[in-house]
Amino acid sequence: MLSDIRDETRESLELQFSEWHQPAYRLDQILEWLYPRRADQWEAMSNLPGSLRAQMAARWSLGSLDLVRKQGSHDSTQKFLWRLTDGALVESVLIPANPALYGEAADRHTLCVSTQVGCAYGCRFCASGLEGWKRNLAPWEIIGQILGVERWHARQKAEIPGSPTTARSPGTRLINNLVIMGMGEPLANYDHLLKALRTLNAPWGGGIGARKITISTSGLAPRIRQLAEEPEQFRLAISLHGATDAVRSQIMPVNRKYPLAELTQACGYYLERKGRMITLEYILIEGINDAPAEVKPLASLARRLHAKVNLIPYNSVEGLPWKRPNESRCQGFADALSRSGIACTLRLEKGHDIDAACGQLRLKTERESAIRPSDPVSGIDPAPVRP
Ligand code: SAH
Ligand code: SF4
Repeated sequence: MLSDIRDETRESLELQFSEWHQPAYRLDQILEWLYPRRADQWEAMSNLPGSLRAQMAARWSLGSLDLVRKQGSHDSTQKFLWRLTDGALVESVLIPANPALYGEAADRHTLCVSTQVGCAYGCRFCASGLEGWKRNLAPWEIIGQILGVERWHARQKAEIPGSPTTARSPGTRLINNLVIMGMGEPLANYDHLLKALRTLNAPWGGGIGARKITISTSGLAPRIRQLAEEPEQFRLAISLHGATDAVRSQIMPVNRKYPLAELTQACGYYLERKGRMITLEYILIEGINDAPAEVKPLASLARRLHAKVNLIPYNSVEGLPWKRPNESRCQGFADALSRSGIACTLRLEKGHDIDAACGQLRLKTERESAIRPSDPVSGIDPAPVRP
């Protein structure tokens, strides 16, 4: 099977084109087609000679992800379910900028992307881990989620009567923030993740600044140290969810492999190397980690790491017993943490109504198709949809 051209780096493409005795300017033409113009057909590359297009088609594939389901409405959180070439399903979530979180104008968007099909880490509360790990995404499948959403957006705009035709112009970009918080553990697919992020970060690729890319991990300590050695200034978020080993091990099996002492040392190293503030993600789950007694260890951990804390009320998952605490309990926890001098946000989860937490739409779709293969699904856009 051919590999995808978007798995190549600029350097490896340059090498291939020089072996093919192509003039140097070809590389920029092709990169322009692949990224700003988001081409998904060789034939679209109209300024390239037919012979070169045929040569490329024989050397690489040029895949795109198939949008099979989309939930959510314009101007709110929107969720995309993609079918990959082998039939596997992954999801991405498009979140309009929240000035309180990002300080950006409202026409800016964050995309939450997946890095694996399923997840091997089996956190007890998470839909992504429920059915185990199937495979890693290739770099182009990570990049393809951004290209797919931007292609879909350009089509939407072009279809609105009177909308500016610039919607199709190559420089029009929708997404300027990435959070690697979709399905999968990104640091367990480290090489593909880094390759994809470098392309998305490059001015000739996605043009998304490294400081606008947040990688979330359940705490793979050795990989955090490895990431600290990379030249890019990616932001790091840790899915903490428990501030003591007793609580954390109960809900996150990864804590037995990398307990808090080891995880916090690795975070400290990241902080030292990068000089960048880490974010601690803390889902509030009723009766598990939301007791007032949890505030003190959380505050001391955050203080030690100079980290801010994002509190996220739990999104319930069908088939799992966990619940979100009521609003006043969440607020009380946030207030107590703030009183301890810790910068924290209480994120009333966007997209709660559309199964926005990672892995939920895929799980629902797989379960529905297992039970009622031919039933139409209500409350969603008609499928299939071409991005
Ligand atoms: N594997 C990585 C990234 C993907 S999960 C990680 O664990 O960090 C992204 C975030 O969603 C994590 O903080 C995860 O703990 C959180 N999450 C998972 N299921 C959730 C749910 N049902 N409600 C709220 N957050 C959830
Ligand atoms: Fe995997 Fe992250 Fe879900 Fe844990 S929270 S199962 S690491 S995707």
